[in-house]
Amino acid sequence: MKIGIIGLGLIGGSILKKLSNFEYEIYAVTGNEETAKKVHNLTAKVSKEYDILTECELVFVCTPIRNTLETLDKLENIVGKDCVVTDVASVKEFVTKKKRPYKFIPSHPMAGTEKNGYDASFEELFTGAKWVVTPYDYRNTEVLEKIIRQLGAETIIADAKEHDKAVAIISHLPMYVSQCLFASAKDNPLAMKLASSGFRDTTRLAATNTTLAMDMLEFNGANIEEAKQNFEKELNTLKDNYCVENLQSIKQKRQDMYSKDGKNVL
Ligand code: NAP
Repeated sequence: MKIGIIGLGLIGGSILKKLSNFEYEIYAVTGNEETAKKVHNLTAKVSKEYDILTECELVFVCTPIRNTLETLDKLENIVGKDCVVTDVASVKEFVTKKKRPYKFIPSHPMAGTEKNGYDASFEELFTGAKWVVTPYDYRNTEVLEKIIRQLGAETIIADAKEHDKAVAIISHLPMYVSQCLFASAKDNPLAMKLASSGFRDTTRLAATNTTLAMDMLEFNGANIEEAKQNFEKELNTLKDNYCVENLQSIKQKRQDMYSKDGKNVL
């Protein structure tokens, strides 16, 4: 099978590194000459031109969110009608507005780090992760699901709109809160000096790649605003009901959600 990957950053690079363990012909598109040199041990089929993707049966679009639509448009003149194309953008509804001449299945791997670029990528990034697939036009997800399994992840089928609401709650708002929490502490030198693992863990997302952070706010702003309003409501509700029973209930649900090795078991 011929598989294409566009954009060899954290996500695209990690897909390339993992899939090169299998018997696939991988075609990589990168605009970065340094990256092109680095990946030559994984595939000889590297170019900055999309033309190398013409024979591909599956293509991953791993560009920043803001460049996803233009990349999907470009592919319309490159791949055949039977090619399965997926993008990995962290927001999903905006890619479902247009019918595509190829088999387009939007998706989003629920795995990442605060780093970006090819050097940050690693082959086990997706191991044990969930990978959301949001079919809307072409609905046969079998081929994509097989590759997602080989990448080490579990497919979760969801509606794009519902996906965007959900990730606003568990990913995009936490990043925003983390940035605000850090900003609120940064001017107190003693607080900054004393900060240890608790502050480190709760502000990890403040170090999110800034392009990704800006795109999340731009492309999922309404859902993030709604999640923020619910969060503010919860701040008041909990303040007015700050008792052992409520804290115990939150603590128990949080403990039940993750296994000892940190995986979400829900
Ligand atoms: P990244 O490390 O910055 O990689 C993005 C890559 O896209 C760059 O390395 C570059 O690849 C290419 N690119 C940059 N500017 C471009 C442009 N103007 N046009 C076309 N390609 C361009 O970011 P990432 O974290 O992998 O994010 C890529 C996608 O994955 C985003 O849509 C994001 O929402 C999604 N995602 C991210 C995470 C996360 O936690 N980081 C998790 C899940 C999904 P070359 O240098 O090879 O050209």
